[in-house]
Parts: sequence; C-alpha cells; structure tokens
Amino acid sequence: MAHLSDAATDRPYWDEKLETQSRADWDALKLDLLQKHLQHAYANSPYYRASFDAAGVHPDQVKSLDDIRRFPFIDKKVLRDRQTAVPPFGDLVAVPERDIVYISASSGSTGVPTASPFTARDFDDWMDYEARQFWSSGLRPDDRYCHSLNFSLFVGGPCVLGAQKLGALSIHAGTVPSERLLTIIRQFQATAIWTTPSYAWYLGETAIKEGIDPKKDLNIKRIFVAGEPGGSIPETRQRIEALWGASVYDYYGLSDIFGSCAGMCEEKHGLHWAEDHILVEVLDPETGQPVPEGGRGELVLTTLKKSARPMIRFRTGDIVSFTSDPCACGRTSIRMLGTHGRLDDMLIIKGVNIFPSDIEAIARRDHALSGEYKLIVERENHLDHLTVEIERAASDAGQDAELAARFAGHLKSVTGVAARIVILPPDTLPRATHKAKRVEDRRQHVWS
Ligand SMILES: [Zn+2]
Repeated sequence: MAHLSDAATDRPYWDEKLETQSRADWDALKLDLLQKHLQHAYANSPYYRASFDAAGVHPDQVKSLDDIRRFPFIDKKVLRDRQTAVPPFGDLVAVPERDIVYISASSGSTGVPTASPFTARDFDDWMDYEARQFWSSGLRPDDRYCHSLNFSLFVGGPCVLGAQKLGALSIHAGTVPSERLLTIIRQFQATAIWTTPSYAWYLGETAIKEGIDPKKDLNIKRIFVAGEPGGSIPETRQRIEALWGASVYDYYGLSDIFGSCAGMCEEKHGLHWAEDHILVEVLDPETGQPVPEGGRGELVLTTLKKSARPMIRFRTGDIVSFTSDPCACGRTSIRMLGTHGRLDDMLIIKGVNIFPSDIEAIARRDHALSGEYKLIVERENHLDHLTVEIERAASDAGQDAELAARFAGHLKSVTGVAARIVILPPDTLPRATHKAKRVEDRRQHVWS
C-alpha cells in the first residue's frame, strides 16, 4: 500500500505497550478495570444491584482479582429470564436505551435468542480488539480479506469491520453458495477468509470438485476459523492447511460478549485472550472451584469494559484450559489451549469423560482416513457402548480390519475407552456446511 510506510505494516504488534506488558501489569490493569466495572454494574443495573445485595457482596470489597469469586454466577438462563421479565433487553443492562447503538443476538438453538447490546464505545472497543487480533495472526493492510458471514443478528457479521479498521481490503461477500463464494475468492484473489473448520474443509473439497486447485488457482494465505473445536486440534488444522496451502488460525468468540474474545498468533500455540476486555476463570463445573493452571474446567467470564450490559461471572458451558507461559511471539496475554468441547457435548462413557474433539484428533492424524467421523453411543444391558464410524481416504488401499484395529488402539490409549470401529467407504458420511453434528447419543431412548 503506497500510503503506508514499511514501518507501519512491518511492526509486529497492533498495540505493543499493551500486548507485551508484564504479567504484573496485566493483573494491575485487570483489577483496576474490574473494580470500576463492578461499580458501574451495581450503580446502573437493577439486576446486579439486587443480586449483589442478596449475596451480601459489594464492589467496594474487591481488593484482588480473586475477590471476583465472592460474586454470584449468571448463565444463559438468567439472561433469558431477565429479558422476558424486563423486555426487550433485560435489566442486566446498565445504560439508558438511547446509548445503545447495536445489538447482536445468539442463534437461539436452546431457546429464545438473547440480545447483546453495545454502546458506541463498546462497539469501537470491539473493533479495535478485532483489528489487534487479526494483526497478531499476520493480517496486514495489503491483504484482501473475504468475509462470508452476513450482517444479521449474528455477532460474527461485524468482525469484517475489524479487518477493515486494520487497513485490509475487506470484501463483504456475505453468506452465498459455495460456488459463488469460490468465484469471488478467485476473481478478487482474496488472501484471507473466515469460516468454520468444517466449512473450510467443505469449501476446499468443493473447489477441487469444480476443477479449481485451491493451492494454485486461489491466493488464500490465511484462514481464520471459529465455532468448532477443530481449529485448535493440530491434526485438523494441518489437513485444512494442506488442502488450501494456507495457514489456519483458530478464533474463539461468544455471542453474548464479543465476536471474538481470543485468537491465535503466528506461533499457533493456543489463543491469546482479550485480557483487557474479559476476565477469565476456569472452574470445576461440579464444585465451582478454580482448577490448577493447565487443567480442564468450565470457562466463566466477566466483562471488564462492555458498559451496555456487564456480564459478571457468566458460565459459558465451554470446557477449556489456559496457560500464562510466555509466548514466542512476545505477547504476554494468557492463552487458551483450546476448547475441548461444550459441557453439553461431553460424553460420559463407562464413567470416562470424552469429548468429540478427542476422537477427531485421532481420526485426522491417520492419513489412511478421510478425517470425517461419527460417534454413536448406545446402552445395552445397562452398559454404554461407543461406536466410531470413520471413513477410508480415497487414496488408501489398506485392509479394513487393520485400519480399525489401529484406530481402536489409539482411541484406547488416548481416552481409555474401548469402542467398536466401523470403516466406511470414502464420501459416505455427510459433509457439514456449518457446525458439524457428529454425535448420536441413543441412550436417551432407554430412559424415555
Ligand atoms: Zn503468541
């Protein structure tokens, strides 16, 4: 870009002072923001005032980050109930309606969609964060970013404005059929796209069926993925990277807070978290107590700046793990080591906790397999049985029995669970175009 100096595009950080500050400085910043944010919630949101009073806690009592644990949890049900009681946005809102300039709403797969309101300042903060996160993943002003999400109520839509703020040429393609999207990507020689891991795979396979070689005919260098655990499973990422000849970066977002709250830097070891916007707790879902760093637990979030609707101790239902170890990129924020799945997705088989992402990692590692899979859980004679259907890769000519034995061995060593393995011919399992449905739990029928 002629108008930008090399120094402006070559700098490694969007906001160097913030992104590379010491852990002690992060903690001091977070405590200051938390104290102010809790005061704001208590002073301006009828819900929080009543709930803090009922719990016998007050923002004045917060002297350290651990003091957040005195405050009550909220969850999706609280958001829905309060929205129903005080329509249209609920009484967690802490600003007058005239200050709200934008709302997103969740997809509502488990009930009534809940609205997430933003003030003008909240929206600008969000876009600045998106730009910072894209920058950390290597997006630069001379990139051409193709966004295939609509400006609907879905919180992913406006993320394209973060790429635009960064200075990239932003192509607002919207949700169009795959063939049309491929035409746009090819015509404008887009260098970056954002999609789900399943759709990145599907789009690449569609390109090949259309006679387009993604590696030669297209110019995609970066694929940002979100919405499924696959982006943090190295085997899944590497397969998409090989298909496209591009680098894949996992992002994590939550419709009730931001479009994205964390994303991978170019080191791709975990997702740098938006620590100046959202305070993280990782808790044992049963006891509500913190798990040791690196352990798996439920992600519980507290906003630190979003003034329209503060979220204090929101239980996400996502099972995650984090590290605060230094990253080779020089950024000092904590990193999410991956979403292992949703509490709702967790399968308990013979007393062992298994996430579909555990099985996906094994399926993608074996190149005799296509990487697609389906899990079927049944109960026979009061015992749980897991069947894993996996698909032979088109290029493989080995024996089914050998392939099944190898997969069963890996599964047993990783999860401790024995399963029946069914090998299917190539292209048998349905390809997901959005969030993949890969689990069929038939055990409900036993109880119904
Ligand atoms: Zn990094």
